Formats: sequence, structure tokens, C-alpha cells
Amino acid sequence: MATIIDGKAISAAERNNIKEETAAFVAQNGFAPGLAVIIVGENPASQVYVRNKHKACGEVGFLSRVYELPEATTQDQLNALIDELNADDAIHGILCQLPLPKHLCESEVIARISPKKDVDAFHVQNVGRIMLGDYDFLPCTPAGVMVLLRETGVEIAGKECVVLGRSNIVGKPMAMLLLQANGTVTICHSRTQNLAEVTRRADILVVAIGKAKFITGDMVKPGAVVIDVGMDRDENGKLCGDVDFASVEPIASAITPVPGGVGPMTITMLLRNTLTAARRAASDSN
Ligand code: NAP
Repeated sequence: MATIIDGKAISAAERNNIKEETAAFVAQNGFAPGLAVIIVGENPASQVYVRNKHKACGEVGFLSRVYELPEATTQDQLNALIDELNADDAIHGILCQLPLPKHLCESEVIARISPKKDVDAFHVQNVGRIMLGDYDFLPCTPAGVMVLLRETGVEIAGKECVVLGRSNIVGKPMAMLLLQANGTVTICHSRTQNLAEVTRRADILVVAIGKAKFITGDMVKPGAVVIDVGMDRDENGKLCGDVDFASVEPIASAITPVPGGVGPMTITMLLRNTLTAARRAASDSN
């Protein structure tokens, strides 16, 4: 029987820490950390994410502003709002909810957000700093995975770590963080040959591919720690992960469920990044 890594409980404890640190920050500096979230158009999933971020900000004592822009917003209008927020001293973190409508350029938006306010850690400067191991912000989902591993007492140094998926927001930074924690890291993707042979080597297996229940028990080493980043729908439309929990759980030593594993950590790490950005701004102004 594997330990079920309780992302909800770990996230709640971390948010409580952030709330206490925020109260101390406000008492010392006289202002609260501020997060601006921009959403363009009416993607229902994005609307839910943005509402959750706004609510989470309120719960820890942040200033939260949501900018809901119409689908027809032009690149110039979006750029102008980002410029305005870059210059706004009450705002320490800026996040533009992706995906954007097709006529807008995501890379232009990411590049326009000040690296100091880039709490998603998508800006090229922040990505570069992660490579160097000298960063203020980490991308929220991989950062959340590292907290789950830490809080579960998983030793990373010297371990075989296999990351499945190489996206810029999950797989690549995840691999870099495990490497910085002295894991021996292999990254797999859709062109990897003999995938099961590679995944069976993993002491720590992180799966982020977006394919429901793809990893089955026969692909996992007995005693492995399995982290499931996937958020997929099964054949009945029910939320599930990239890992077939039923066949993997009896083999793993620890595993994240979906829902209730990695998912709750992502917004928590966004809050952590916003507090970090506010601390930076406060120390820059002193
Ligand atoms: P993505 O950009 O679509 O990337 C998927 C990656 O998986 C790609 O690198 C792809 O390889 C690889 N891949 C796809 N099929 C594969 C296969 N059969 N074998 C091996 N590798 C395969 O996805 P993402 O944005 O990283 O997201 C991955 C999953 O995590 C999704 O389910 C997403 O919803 C979830 N997610 C969850 C959170 C959270 O907060 N819990 C946050 C972000 C994402 P190629 O590069 O070769 O195409």
C-alpha cells in the first residue's frame, strides 16, 4: 500500500504559512502583496481558474485585481494594460491566463510582463535564471511538486528521476529542479523509444503528458514515488490523471491522487511567488 500524498493538506498548510507571512509583511511595510490577473475572452475553464486565484488571494490577505477583457481585445490594448500594470506600485505579480484567443500572441504577452512581476516564471529572463539555479520565481506546478516531495520526506539526491513530458511549463522546469536537487534525471517525450523500460528505472517518476491513465503498474518500479501532474477526463468524463491509479498504487511507495494531489499546489505556489515579488519590491524601495 502506497502512501497517498495529500496535496490538499500540504497545500492548506503552505497557504496558512503564506497568510501568516503576509500579515507580518503588511504590518512591516504598510501594503499588501498585489496580484493582477488578466483574462481575455470567455473560456469556461480559464474563468474557473481565475475565480479560484482571486479567492485564494483574498484568503491570504493579498490585494487581487481581475481584468476581464472581451474576446475582441487587440494586441495593442492588451500590451497597454500590461504596461500600465508593470508601472503600478500596488501590483507585484501579473498573470495573463492562457490560452489566449488565437489572434493574440502569447509569447509577446509573456515577454512584455516585467520579469520582476512575472509570477508564472514564464519570461525568458526567469527561465534562464532557473537554468542557472539563481531565481526568485519557479513555475508554479513544478515548484508545487518539489514541495510535495519535500513534505513527504522523499530523498532526491542520487535517485533515478524520470520526467515524462517536456513542456516549457511543466516537464522541462521539473527536470531542472530535480537536477538541482541532485537527482539523476531522464526526460521522456512522445519520441522516446522503449518508454516502459525507462519509466521502470525511476525511483521518482513525474508524469505530465495529458493522456488519461497512460502509466500502468507494469511501467513502474516497485517502491517508486509517483507524481501525477495530469488533469484529464476518463471514459466517463470524470477527472483523472496520467497515471492509472488502480494498477500503480499497489506497486508505488507513494503516489499523488487526481484530484487532490498536484492540482491544489499550483495556486499555492502562485501565492508564494507573489509574496516573493512583493518582498523584492519592498526591499528595492528601501
Ligand atoms: P503539453 O504541453 O501538451 O506537453 C505534453 C508532453 O507530453 C509533451 O512533451 C509530449 O511530447 C509528451 N507526450 C505526449 N504523449 C506522450 C506519450 N505517449 N509518451 C511520452 N510522452 C508523451 O502538456 P503540459 O502543459 O505539460 O500538461 C501535461 C498535463 O499536466 C496535462 O494533463 C495538463 O492538464 C496537466 N497540468 C496540470 C497542472 C496542475 O496544476 N495540476 C498544471 C499544468 C498542466 P512531445 O514534446 O514529444 O510532443
